[in-house]
Amino acid sequence: MVVAPSRSYTQVEISFTNAEVLGIDPPLRESGDIEGSPGCVLIGTEGRRIELKKGVIAALRHIHMHPRDAEDFGVTAGERVKIRVPGERGLVFENVIVRVAENLALEMHIDMDEGRAAKVVDFQLVELIKY
Ligand SMILES: [Zn+2]
Repeated sequence: MVVAPSRSYTQVEISFTNAEVLGIDPPLRESGDIEGSPGCVLIGTEGRRIELKKGVIAALRHIHMHPRDAEDFGVTAGERVKIRVPGERGLVFENVIVRVAENLALEMHIDMDEGRAAKVVDFQLVELIKY
């Protein structure tokens, strides 16, 4: 999937299940921190190939927040918090990084492995717990 806005580098975020299937060992990193990460070959639907020397990571779970949200929650950019997901498969995600910027809406980003483990659904109400 290609996401916008475009960046000056190419990054591929995969889950650890994807990684096992692909035989890649990605480091767990914040988006943009790709130094020393493994590369891969991307092949498009029309056969175009791009070989990346680096850029494959497993993304650290994080929450995007507008500064108003951060103020409401009493958290700051870069802070790590816990997120409790309620429900039968509920669990607490630890080390969720808070990202704050004027152009960010309140949204938590986790990968498919994490989401499925807790049976998270879009727009699910969760609880932010400070350390
Ligand atoms: Zn994100």
